[in-house]
Order: sequence, then structure tokens, then C-alpha cells
Amino acid sequence: MRYGKINKTDIANGPGVRVSLFVSGCRNHCKGCFNPETWAFDYGEAFTLRTVDEILKALDKPYISGLSILGGEPFEPENVGTVFDLCRQVKSRFPDKTIWIYTGYLYEKIEPILNDTIDVLVDGPFIEAQKDITLKFKGSKNQRIIDVQASRSSGSVKLLY
Ligand code: SF4
Repeated sequence: MRYGKINKTDIANGPGVRVSLFVSGCRNHCKGCFNPETWAFDYGEAFTLRTVDEILKALDKPYISGLSILGGEPFEPENVGTVFDLCRQVKSRFPDKTIWIYTGYLYEKIEPILNDTIDVLVDGPFIEAQKDITLKFKGSKNQRIIDVQASRSSGSVKLLY
């Protein structure tokens, strides 16, 4: 996996101050995508053990609420294994910090592969016609902010907001 950017003080992609990782590679190609340079799987830098250390160190601050993973598309087959490894490491080291993942896929499609390390999924493609800059933590009205563990245990989608 490769990644374009790590933001160590992000206040736009989830509650509180967060560390955000923007992975490379996305086949969704939403019209009006805010980050089209990240569609290429070879964009940015290689994600290595050193990158994991950098993220863990950035999370190890009392004012950091958690990790947000965006793209690109974290659930592309080329990325998802590395993304899940990172989630496992983050949750085992910081069980009280939340993990949010942004995806262009719908929850219903990826629910079978979700695990207990993911707290929130912001799902669905960016739809330009439904863009609304006043929306909190998402770009278009169709996207849902889903409480993953409540949804998994109840068997139906539970929104966080
Ligand atoms: S899923 Fe995200 S990164 Fe991919 S095209 Fe849509 S908005 Fe852009």
C-alpha cells in the first residue's frame, strides 16, 4: 500500500483532534472527488513499518481522539489488509481512541469483512449533486456516518448521527 498524506491534527474528519491517513488507490472515481490525485495506486509514499510507528507516535498524545483513514479507498483489495493490520495495532495500543474509516462502498457490501477494531464507517460514494458544505464529517447527503459495532450486533445499520 501507498499513502498520500498523514495529517497529525485533523479536525474535519471525525470528532476531536485526530490523526488522519490518506491511502492511495481508488476505483470509485466519484465525479467531483475532493482528492483525485489519490486515485492512482502508485501515488505518494510506501506505507512501511516506519509509517506505522509514525502514526502510533502521533496518536500517543492526550489531546488526540483517534485515527481516521481516508483515501483513496481503504477497502480496495490492494489496501484493506494493511489498513486492517494498522487498525489492530492502533486498537491494541490505544483501546479508548476511536477508528473512523471513510469508504466509497456501502456498508452492506463490506459488512462481512468488518471487524471489531472499526468504530465508525462513513460510507457511500461522493455524489456531487448531493454535496453540502454544511454537513459535518461528510461531503454529500447520501453518505452515512455508521456506528459499526452497534450495526454489527443488531444486524441493521445504526447511524451515529
Ligand atoms: S471514494 Fe473517495 S477518493 Fe474515491 S473517488 Fe470517491 S470521493 Fe474520491
